[in-house]
Amino acid sequence: MLRLTDTRTRKVEDIVPARPGELRIYSCGPTVYRYSHVGNLRSWLLSDLIRRVAELHGLRVTVAQNITDVGHLADDAEIDPAGEDKVLAQARAEGKSALEIARFYEAAFHQDLSDLNIRPAEHQPRASESIDGMIAMIGKLIESGHAYAVDDGSVFFDARSFPSYGEISGNRLDDLRPGHRVDPDNAGNKRFHADWALWKGTSGAREMVWDAPWGQGFPGWHIECSVMSLDHLGDDIDIHTGGIDLRFPHHEDERAQSNTAAGREVVRHWVHGEHLLAEGRKMAKSTGNVIRLEDVVARGLDPLAVRLFFLTGRYRQQMNLTWDAVVAADKRLTRWRSKVAEWAESPSFALPRTQVDHVTDAFDDDLDTPSALIRLEEIARDDSLPDGAKFEAFAFLDRAFGLDLVRDVGKPKVVSVLPDGAQALLDARAAARTGKDYAASDRLRDELAALGVTVADTAEGQTWSAG
Ligand code: AMP
Ligand code: ZN
Repeated sequence: MLRLTDTRTRKVEDIVPARPGELRIYSCGPTVYRYSHVGNLRSWLLSDLIRRVAELHGLRVTVAQNITDVGHLADDAEIDPAGEDKVLAQARAEGKSALEIARFYEAAFHQDLSDLNIRPAEHQPRASESIDGMIAMIGKLIESGHAYAVDDGSVFFDARSFPSYGEISGNRLDDLRPGHRVDPDNAGNKRFHADWALWKGTSGAREMVWDAPWGQGFPGWHIECSVMSLDHLGDDIDIHTGGIDLRFPHHEDERAQSNTAAGREVVRHWVHGEHLLAEGRKMAKSTGNVIRLEDVVARGLDPLAVRLFFLTGRYRQQMNLTWDAVVAADKRLTRWRSKVAEWAESPSFALPRTQVDHVTDAFDDDLDTPSALIRLEEIARDDSLPDGAKFEAFAFLDRAFGLDLVRDVGKPKVVSVLPDGAQALLDARAAARTGKDYAASDRLRDELAALGVTVADTAEGQTWSAG
């Protein structure tokens, strides 16, 4: 059984899915206004690792990941006194429309995930296309007395109406003094300094605004994740992931909104990944120490060397990225792949269960990937194991590591082919989704899975992978 450190309970918890046989994960996605750096990717790797380990245990995993294309304002580290939307600011800088910017960086995000073998989420809702749900939830929060509208059309959540605020981050309301929260965009009109905006009223011309009963405006970033997670995963979500900086205020506010709207504890386990550092400091655009996956490829290195480098550390520990470490990981990857290619020539052999279990036990142990890698190396060096068994072990375990260990050195990634009958099921599923028949769409997804075809619902429609 998989165990993970739960940020809220501060304990390592057994992951017991709410629905037997199925695991539902919400992974906080990107704000699509610039390229991702490898630090961002480290955070998104976390849900992929959880997914892969759960799948090894035979669970069907559903991941939902938001695409934030509106409402995320410039953050504390890069204070913009006007509280400008990140996407709009970038659109102005590049002389493009907000939509052009958002779609461009969304595509770049998908490419990065694919290059790092991070499987696409089954649900990838865009904030700008989920506005109706946000307006409905905000309306419900106002009605139940947990939120209030003010003169300029903004709506605030009444933080004091949610007594367990602060459980994730430890930032209790009593300790949050005025000025503690830098929130320049919505400082006025609040009843209490820790209240936050669910909706930001706007006057004047601006892209990406919508009409709401309390006035024209756009949603706050936190309400977006509440709505998209509840809409796509329901009100009993097994795991919610994100980078450690999202604990507060983003996840704290999301929890207050979701729990209040649903009338229950919506997320069973909050799991956070620690930051990636470079030159000893958190990797961030504002610090100027950003490395993109493209920079890795430009140096002639395999992007999966970055994935391997990440696996040499534990997700809840900071890691400092150096080029030497990525080069070493790249060499190790090449060595393993050529070994696997060599072992593939040997007579086939049964999977060495005991040795394989040692590796999967390490994954189960709060994703102890450094130990999993050591145990994998032990399999490679074990003289008592026939080469055919080593091949089987590496091929099987790569389902968790995701390092393309069975790829012949120098060969490009294999393009999958659809098995017979799959296209008809895909067409039927696309039609079911257009008709909003989600029960049929889920059933067809299971039928496709039985054929070895995995489908994902992206903003561009349904995509698939096979094999
Ligand atoms: P952002 O684009 O800033 O909203 O960040 C997207 C995701 O990347 C969030 O989950 C952040 O927590 C995460 N993140 C940002 N910087 C880093 C870093 N240096 N290391 C790990 N995760 C990060
Ligand atoms: Zn989020």
